Amino acid sequence: MTLQHRLRDVEERLRQACSRSGRQPENIQMIAVTKYVSVATAQEAVRAGVTHVGENRWPDARPKWEALKDQAVFHYIGSLQTNKVKDVIGKFDYVHSLDRESLAEAINDRAEKLGIVVPCLLQVNVSGEQSKHGLAPEQALPFLHGLGKYDRIRPVGLMTMAPYESEPEETRPVFRALRLLRDELNGKAMTTEPLTELSMGMSNDFEVAAEEGATMVRLGTVLVGKEEIGVD
Ligand SMILES: *Cc1c(COP(=O)(O)O)cnc(C)c1O
Repeated sequence: MTLQHRLRDVEERLRQACSRSGRQPENIQMIAVTKYVSVATAQEAVRAGVTHVGENRWPDARPKWEALKDQAVFHYIGSLQTNKVKDVIGKFDYVHSLDRESLAEAINDRAEKLGIVVPCLLQVNVSGEQSKHGLAPEQALPFLHGLGKYDRIRPVGLMTMAPYESEPEETRPVFRALRLLRDELNGKAMTTEPLTELSMGMSNDFEVAAEEGATMVRLGTVLVGKEEIGVD
């Protein structure tokens, strides 16, 4: 299948997920995760109609960002070390992996120097898997309150990664829990603007995530494929 075909196919699957759940496809932003593919493939994706690109490591992202920065919105979806903040902030439009105070402080300092405000999603480890980054769900409310002092950070939503399941339906409780957590935070955290975004769903499980309220789905393999380009 060509990239163009995969894009149409994914769009169709999202439309069907929306019609099953009474949602509107325009409320789900597809983010093409280009971490497994070359600059040329990332460019092809943009030519095919992709407008949002996600990457998770700056050294690999850099050539793609340089090639496409004027043509796509960039999302930083990987865990972010504090010493890499200077590389990423000012280039990526969204950070999906805000999960600790030290990172908030570093992002805020950098954004202040650049005179910008950075839309961030709080990464939440809903499944509780040891291997996953993110705040425990019960930490999300105090963390969100604590962000009040960082005026260069705009919390816009929540992000999670579900465990890989051979039966995607089994991821549903994770996605549902993230949506309920967002709604709960919006009820309790009067200090901030309501969180609108739910970044959830990957190649294996995006239809379930869409049914559960995802506003951003992060699609690598299913959309742009996977190439041997020496990315670890
Ligand atoms: C790699 C990655 C994705 C995309 O993975 P696929 O399963 O190939 O769609 C999505 N989100 C994050 C955080 C990733 O690191």
